[in-house]
Amino acid sequence: MSDFVIQPPPLAVVPVEDGRGFPVRRIFCVGRNYAAHAREMGADPDREPPFFFAKPADAILTQGADMPYPPQTGDLHHEIELVAAIGRGGADIPADMALDHVWGYAAGLDMTRRDLQGAAKKAGRPWDMGKGFDHSAPIGTLVPASRIGHPGTGRIELKVNGTLRQQGDVADLIWGIAETVSYLSSLVRLAPGDLIFTGTPEGVAAVGPGDLLEGSIEGVGTVTTRIVSR
Ligand code: MN
Repeated sequence: MSDFVIQPPPLAVVPVEDGRGFPVRRIFCVGRNYAAHAREMGADPDREPPFFFAKPADAILTQGADMPYPPQTGDLHHEIELVAAIGRGGADIPADMALDHVWGYAAGLDMTRRDLQGAAKKAGRPWDMGKGFDHSAPIGTLVPASRIGHPGTGRIELKVNGTLRQQGDVADLIWGIAETVSYLSSLVRLAPGDLIFTGTPEGVAAVGPGDLLEGSIEGVGTVTTRIVSR
């Protein structure tokens, strides 16, 4: 069909290091995938397996753009995360083949309206408005696995205004990249263009207008954004 009744929405695109783009289909996020962060959120990492939620594709914020402080919150939190980009789709992907489906990696921020998420948890309601709001997924440049491999270890950290706030190691993921891709593909068919935010280490905290967020993942890259007033 080529006749649309409205202008088709623009494609969400993550820049790749060679100057090309990675078109985004869906964004999946893993909850509580580092033990220390699960504990700081009041959960028991040994008893509760990781789970998934989603953000809309157009939540991505790229190339270090400013992030407008979102509406309806007084508690905007940062979560630095390793992001896996799916290049080859599939359902029921075995864990030992899962990494072949990952095109590359980036550093990303799962920005969270913690007050709205907390209220939703308490009421047994969906997390969508706590997690999937506009510009809630800043992401750095994507690098191909064909160049950097699949990160099994590496320091993951976030600085706010130059001060270290979050620090961990990708080796401490409760569910590694292969297991995450495999399990997610048992719930939904993955397709090229899917992004998976793999969870955050401990140290999440609130930020406000004027704050500069600088995340980095050893061997992968960086993500930067400044929070600005709406
Ligand atoms: Mn997260």
